[in-house]
Amino acid sequence: MELSQRAKRLKSSVTLAASAKAKALIAAGEDIVSLTVGEPDFATPTVIQEAAIKAITSGVASYYTVTAGIPELKAAIIASIERDYGFKTHSENIIVTDGAKFALYSLFQVLLDSKDEVIIPTPYWVSYGEHVTMAEGVPVFVKATQANDFKVTVEQLDKVRTAKTKALILNSPSNPTGSIYTKTELEQIGNWAVDNDILIVSDDIYGKLVYNGAVFTPLASISEAIRKQTIIINGVSKAYAMTGWRIGYAVADDVRIISAMTKIASQSTSNPVAVSQYAAVEALNGNQAIVEEMRQAFEERLNVIYPLVAEIPGFKLSKPQGAFYLFPDVTEAMKLKGFTDINDFTNAILTEAKVALVTGAGFGADENIRLSYAADLATLKKAVKRLKAFMEA
Ligand code: PMP
Ligand code: GLU
Repeated sequence: MELSQRAKRLKSSVTLAASAKAKALIAAGEDIVSLTVGEPDFATPTVIQEAAIKAITSGVASYYTVTAGIPELKAAIIASIERDYGFKTHSENIIVTDGAKFALYSLFQVLLDSKDEVIIPTPYWVSYGEHVTMAEGVPVFVKATQANDFKVTVEQLDKVRTAKTKALILNSPSNPTGSIYTKTELEQIGNWAVDNDILIVSDDIYGKLVYNGAVFTPLASISEAIRKQTIIINGVSKAYAMTGWRIGYAVADDVRIISAMTKIASQSTSNPVAVSQYAAVEALNGNQAIVEEMRQAFEERLNVIYPLVAEIPGFKLSKPQGAFYLFPDVTEAMKLKGFTDINDFTNAILTEAKVALVTGAGFGADENIRLSYAADLATLKKAVKRLKAFMEA
């Protein structure tokens, strides 16, 4: 038996692979501190758990739901978009998916023909490129430098634009860099996309996790023309500590996109897990103080951990404004320890310092390494202590 060419080309998610490796080592008795996967360490808030339990015991969660999401959840998404983005969307413009990841996967399946191009700023979240190639599209990477705060400019985008360019992915706040585009920057990029009829996939999943006075401006809130050109990707995983529940969604002005994504879901997943949808209704409709509490905890961790990581010999970074990652440039650190390859360096940190991190290679950045600070302060401090000892040895 031969696997398909498609299967052979496909790469695993490096974040999930790094996390699985760390979990396996810990299960085997190794003393590893894992700052790999990007997920809140908090349990899902109790009110959300209770809504899920009620959905189970009342029986409503026993059955298939409509493919694009239960009306109650769509209503909750409409209300949250109105609150956070300032415009009113409609049920037919929304699809609820099995995590934001499946929204992105199915979106590119319905947008791209073979060889269509999608511009992806680097460093990028690990799955974007694979989502595009799984749809036979071509990812076109544009390097956002640390000197420019890991943000791309219209000039850079225009250089790589071709007749085949169908979409651009923007992720602000960014995984892995934590950078946030300002309103002016978004306006420039949005207008460029409108002028050139390029769709913008705006991955807003970290929109509620911004720190120290930084402001998240949703791209789709900037103007009517930009809103129409934008497909919003969002979900409850990060802001509500619900990664395991697998609820995300897409909002598009063009209902044909949503209908086509719904066809894919109807032939693949049928519907997002019923109980999770009821839980997500409570997350979006309930008291938003739970989000603020977790946001404050992440902010405190960032403020404690950032200066400590900046002191590690050879680690160079600027302070992120959002999400929950540090993404230091470790070029100097690698030199100091005699490494030339970021994967080997990441591996040495795992085996010698006993700290599991994610190689920047998976994010298209061979000089960087990612630490997730979605862990308690004691764990974070322990990790930094080990990293420092490793670098000073
Ligand atoms: N986009 C980004 C930038 C992410 O970091 C994640 C986290 N996995 C996702 C999308 C997908 O989130 P989920 O599938 O858990 O909703
Ligand atoms: N987005 C998270 C991360 O980057 C979760 C893992 C994943 O979905 O790949 O670590």
